[in-house]
Amino acid sequence: MSPGKSLLATGASEREEILADLLAHGRFLSGLSSVGVAPPSAGAERVGASGEAAVGPVGRSGEDAAVALAAIREDLGDCRRCKLASGRKKIVFGQGNPNAELMFVGEAPGSEEDEQGLAFVGRAGQLLTDIIEKGMKMRRADVWIGNVLKCRPPQNRNPEPDEILSCQPFLEAQIRAIRPRVLVGLGKFAAQWLLRTAEPISRLRGRIGERDGIPVMPTYHPAYLLRNPAGKKDVWEDMKAVLRLLGRPVPGPD
Ligand code: URA
Repeated sequence: MSPGKSLLATGASEREEILADLLAHGRFLSGLSSVGVAPPSAGAERVGASGEAAVGPVGRSGEDAAVALAAIREDLGDCRRCKLASGRKKIVFGQGNPNAELMFVGEAPGSEEDEQGLAFVGRAGQLLTDIIEKGMKMRRADVWIGNVLKCRPPQNRNPEPDEILSCQPFLEAQIRAIRPRVLVGLGKFAAQWLLRTAEPISRLRGRIGERDGIPVMPTYHPAYLLRNPAGKKDVWEDMKAVLRLLGRPVPGPD
């Protein structure tokens, strides 16, 4: 990229070259903001046709968060930026309260989410609802729930680095629009993406980190809990810590 030229002004092939460069340097986990696309404090930006931030910051009052999210959704459009586009049924943008204090980030849509276009509506989603409503005594409608990837990977395989890279400007913009007080990373991919680390979830879980000044709680993915119910105890400890961060009451045992 020539000096003084922003990523916004580059052509598709040049952008691909830059992104390939970033990947080659193992920096995909650190996000496009690290190369100056989107200052973390700038509020929500529009994200352009190829995933670049396109318009300046908007304010963060309640209505603006909803407006900013709508603009991000519009910019996402009928996304064809990565190879997942060909196999997906619906884009899963994420849903919830644009003014949420608490934002959950999962891995990627599964088959039910792909059908409905909504995050966490299958079996893992039901467990997440229980964690939020029965455990934390919050309403699911009051939080925001999204994913690292907005399209379902074939056979629910793991997200690949180029897919994460294509999607991340949109998740970054969503975080800036919502500006939650606490982020929860559900499972390895979300926790690693949020914390810009490759540490295993077994080491990350339960240790509060930070992304762009927002506390991040990495915890186990609900799908993992369906297979390993013993992990629920740890997740409950993590959610109690989240409630404390939010200054909310921590429910005791019934
Ligand atoms: N698993 C995820 O990570 N996200 C969903 O939306 C559903 C299942």
